[in-house]
Amino acid sequence: MITRSLLPAARRDPRLQPWTTLPTGGALSSAACVICGWRGSRFEGFAHCESARCPSCGSIARDRFLYHCFVQRVPWRPGLAVLETSPRLGEDYRDVMASRMAYRASDFDQAGHRTGLAIDLQHIDLPDGSLDVILTPHVLEHIPDTARTLAELHRVLRPGGTALVQVPLLQPATAAPVEPEYHEDRTLVHWRFGVDLTERMRRAGFGTSMLVTDDLARRVARGDDSWDDVSPEFDAGGLVQAMHRRDLVVVASDRVARRMGFEPSYMFVTWECRKP
Ligand SMILES: [Zn+2]
Repeated sequence: MITRSLLPAARRDPRLQPWTTLPTGGALSSAACVICGWRGSRFEGFAHCESARCPSCGSIARDRFLYHCFVQRVPWRPGLAVLETSPRLGEDYRDVMASRMAYRASDFDQAGHRTGLAIDLQHIDLPDGSLDVILTPHVLEHIPDTARTLAELHRVLRPGGTALVQVPLLQPATAAPVEPEYHEDRTLVHWRFGVDLTERMRRAGFGTSMLVTDDLARRVARGDDSWDDVSPEFDAGGLVQAMHRRDLVVVASDRVARRMGFEPSYMFVTWECRKP
């Protein structure tokens, strides 16, 4: 597997502790944080995309999966223009990201998060082709007009740019919530997305793949949904049946997934949208 560092300069800068190393070695430690470089015996909490918390930087498993997808799939260069919408992590994370690249964090609902730059993703106040990368963790489900948002993401990316999109993927097909649904920061959920989001991204003009772990790709190829214990909010069997192996790109081996806490595998999907 390729191990590509985003932080050749940051590694040499002691001011950036604890965000200075990537867990490329250290076979003796069984858990490793790709964001801050922490290594230890285990993450805090339990095996779940919203848990497995890093005791050093506070990342949960889905934060690390998004970052891992980023460093695996986007070649680093100085001055990479990155917008992250509503990052879950706080000022330390944002400061370090800004030290590594031309990074900005935004949020639409200033009450729900802490960032300074307010952006409505349905009407992004940025020029055409001005970004190399957009990271959008758990934002799209809170926006009413998905097609409009995808068109805007496409517009502000430069040709060859990449949007990495995470949403709660609990069920095979997209539907509006039956009952009003809120996430813990009290933002309304407009959509419960399904695997069909891939096709909608393609219709917006993106070359689209689902970035997953090797375990999930193998299960999709075999039609194997036999997890011992499925978290009740997930239709893991329905997800496996709805996914097509040709849409999946593996970004983490079993060993990497175990060390970084990307388990169980049905909880870890990041959409990669490349603008041609
Ligand atoms: Zn960490």
